[in-house]
This record gives sequence, structure tokens and C-alpha cells, in this order.
Amino acid sequence: MTASLEQTLPEPDVEDGIKYWASQPASYDGVLGGFGNGTLPRVDALGSRQFLQHLLPELCTVPSAIRPLTAPSPSARRPRALDVGAGVGRVTSDVLLHLFADVLLVEPVAPFVAEALRRGRASEALPAGASIALDENPMAVPWKGVRARTTSVTFVQATLQEFDPARPKGRVLGRVGYEGNAEGADATAVALEDLDSGFDVVWCQWCLGALSDPDLVAFFKRSKAAFRDPARGLIVVKENLCSETGSPRAVFDESDSSLTRSDLAWKQSFAEAGLRIVHEQVQEGFPEGLYTVKMYALR
Ligand code: SAH
Repeated sequence: MTASLEQTLPEPDVEDGIKYWASQPASYDGVLGGFGNGTLPRVDALGSRQFLQHLLPELCTVPSAIRPLTAPSPSARRPRALDVGAGVGRVTSDVLLHLFADVLLVEPVAPFVAEALRRGRASEALPAGASIALDENPMAVPWKGVRARTTSVTFVQATLQEFDPARPKGRVLGRVGYEGNAEGADATAVALEDLDSGFDVVWCQWCLGALSDPDLVAFFKRSKAAFRDPARGLIVVKENLCSETGSPRAVFDESDSSLTRSDLAWKQSFAEAGLRIVHEQVQEGFPEGLYTVKMYALR
């Protein structure tokens, strides 16, 4: 019964989805459906950082109550994360750059990825010693480590249907921050060599509804294949959940041609992709009236 109902659901259409997002403002408010100016961005970023620090305590670069004395020492390699369906770079700037040295940002909508790149370049161009903008607007806060060139962000325009995390080269729009040990005109080219080196974390937030079930499972499999260390790599899924009554369910949203999946529907796709749930947690503290949002860490 349920299975036949599920089959009547429309599938997300890539072009319709992109058309919808391209009509939204290239801002936090735009990517967060009108929740960009309240407490949601801060609560969301804090919840995400705590979730990651709990799972990967070695990412904490400063003494912290979360980092046990027995935590593995930071690896010699620069920790690297992938931010997919990244919008204007909100997760990159507010979560990932606080914990990772290098971030690859992937987003298909031209005005969004252009705005992300603009924010990254503005951070890079800040005068030395510029004071942190304690602005009400989180979009104005400089990106951690970018001006000092200790962190880097590389920008790619692609959909998740076409993107292969193991082979991210090809559509690189730009890069800011750390350039490796190379100097001069070829520095960026040299820095891009590290792109194929895989990821410690693949972060997927509020974008996987744009994928049909088969595309979702295929993307998870490609992501898992791009772990640097299969024993420690993680895919994090932070997404809305629709309600369910004992069996997997999804709701189609015509406005952005996306699916909202229930907890069991997500778990079905994880299992199909051969992923095990390492940790799962509901994000608390969001405004009333939103879907439940859950974080899953998978490998
Ligand atoms: N993850 C970001 C943006 C969320 S908004 C954040 O949390 O701030 C949803 C994003 O999904 C938009 O940037 C939209 O352009 C992107 N998106 C839509 N269709 C997509 C697709 N087929 N592949 C990848 N990203 C897609």
C-alpha cells in the first residue's frame, strides 16, 4: 500500500529546482526561506559545530571541554571538508572553516556561488589587522583564516546529480586563502593539485531534497568513495524531516521541485547506499512551525 503510494510521487526536476533557487535573493534570508535574520543561523551553526566536534574531537584546534586529553592528535594532513548545495557559503563560513583547513564549496545556482566567491574574496582582501566586523549581519563577518591564508575555500559550480566528490576538478570558479607552499603566478594551479585528495567530511544541508531516491543513493556512494580515510571519513546529512506513521514517507514540494523525506525514508536511502549511522541528533532551538531538522553522521 505504502509502496504504491510512494511511486505516485513526482520526482524532483533539476531544472525546475534551479529555476526556483535562482529567483531567490543571494543572501542568508534567501537560502533559509526567510529565516536568515533571526536566531536560526546562529543556532544552526552552533549545533553543527558541536555535532562535528563531538564526532571528530581532533578537529578542535584550541583546548576545549569537548576535546578529551586522549583525543587523537591532529593529523599531519590539512583536514578537508566538502560543502554541497552550499548556497551563498553559509555552512562553509559559519561551520566548516572553524574546524577544517580546506573547504570545497559546490553549488549549481550561478548568483549563489558568485555571492559565495565574492564573500570569500572580500575576506581575503581585508587589510591586515582589520578588526572583526561585529556586525548584526552574519554575512559581513570575515571568513576564518582566509585573510591570513591559513585556510582555503575552492568554488565549484555543479549540481549534485553530476558532481563526483572524487573528481572535483573541471568547473573551478576560483579559490581564496591558503595556496600551498607554492609562490607566484602558478600558486593557484599548484594549490588545486590537492583537490583530488578526498575529504574527511562531506556536509549536505538543506539540499538533498533536490535529488530523487536513485540520485541520492548514487551521490552517497560517490561521496563515500571520496573519503580520505574510510575508517574516519563522515557524510553529514542535516535536513528537514516530514512526519511519518511507522513507514517511510516523502512529501513533494512543487515550489522548488523537492522531496521532504521522513526519518525512515532517510534511513532507507542510507542503507541502500551502504552507509552506517554513526550518530544522529535532532537540532533543537529552531523557531516554532518548521519541520523537524535532524543531523545524521554516516560512513
Ligand atoms: N546548504 C546551504 C543552502 C541551502 S538552500 C545552507 O544551508 O545555507 C538550498 C540549496 O540547494 C540552494 O543553494 C540551491 O541552489 C541548492 N540546490 C538546488 N538544487 C540542487 C541540485 N540539483 N544540486 C545541488 N544543489 C542544489
